[in-house]
Amino acid sequence: MYKLIDGKEVAAAVRENIKAEVEKLSQEGKSTGLAVIIVGNNPASRVYVNNKKKGCEQVGIRSFEYALGEDTSTEELLSLIEKLNRDSEVDGILCQLPLPGQIDEQKVLNAISPDKDVDAFHPVNTGHIMIGDHSFLPCTPAGIIEMLKYYDIAVEGKECVVIGRSNIVGKPMMMLLLEQNGTVTICHSRTADLKSVTKRADILVSAVGKAGFVTADMVKEGAVVIDVGMNRNAEGKLCGDVDFENVKEKCSYITPVPGGVGPMTITMLLNNTLTASKNHKK
Ligand code: NAP
Repeated sequence: MYKLIDGKEVAAAVRENIKAEVEKLSQEGKSTGLAVIIVGNNPASRVYVNNKKKGCEQVGIRSFEYALGEDTSTEELLSLIEKLNRDSEVDGILCQLPLPGQIDEQKVLNAISPDKDVDAFHPVNTGHIMIGDHSFLPCTPAGIIEMLKYYDIAVEGKECVVIGRSNIVGKPMMMLLLEQNGTVTICHSRTADLKSVTKRADILVSAVGKAGFVTADMVKEGAVVIDVGMNRNAEGKLCGDVDFENVKEKCSYITPVPGGVGPMTITMLLNNTLTASKNHKK
């Protein structure tokens, strides 16, 4: 019988701690602030930004929104980031992705001061993750590690398989599982015989972005399955990468979509903002 990993429950517990710490800092005279930049009119980005601002409000973090037009240039965005880097009211800077095509995304992410880089996308923070000496962890993989801890799911010594090698999910997920002493394999679109690899997994993380991609025959009996995917099915309903109905019976634990990894991602952004605020107080 499988157990559902309830991301909303874990997120609520972590947010309570964040709220208490933000409140403590505030009593000591240090407010915590997050600058949220949104460029253009992408409706999905607007939903994400609103949810992030709502999350800030819940835990007492001040959020400052900067909404820029669709035709913003790289230089204009860089000049805003430079201003925010110098602003002592701003502990964290988040630039909602994707950016319109004319903007050099990597240049923009590299311009965010590493001590305000609460998404942990800056190469300096990526490097820190590689050597295991980090202030900020990328939000989605860090949220997954928190969920595993909450449910007392040990990673040490386990066969962990990550499908997807993006810079924001797959690669940092690999590093964090390794840090927890898992034995990690990372797969991608050129992996030969994917099923033979995923079937070895005690912990299987899918970050592909294709509905119904992980089927029951790819999953080992008793595996923990973490579904990062956020896709729309044929009926337009939000769903993950995993064929949940058929896979769940093989699992010891499984995350649903929605209500699994998603709520943890924003929670870890709030946690990184709290970390930045504490560091700035020092
Ligand atoms: P991405 O950059 O598009 O990466 C997808 C990865 O999947 C790539 O590494 C790709 O391999 C691999 N892949 C594609 N087809 C494959 C196949 N047939 N077999 C094996 N691997 C395959 O995506 P991402 O940004 O990591 O996001 C992945 C999913 O997670 C998306 O649905 C996204 O919306 C979701 N997401 C959710 C959250 C959350 O909070 N829940 C956060 C971030 C992302 P190659 O490298 O070889 O192309």
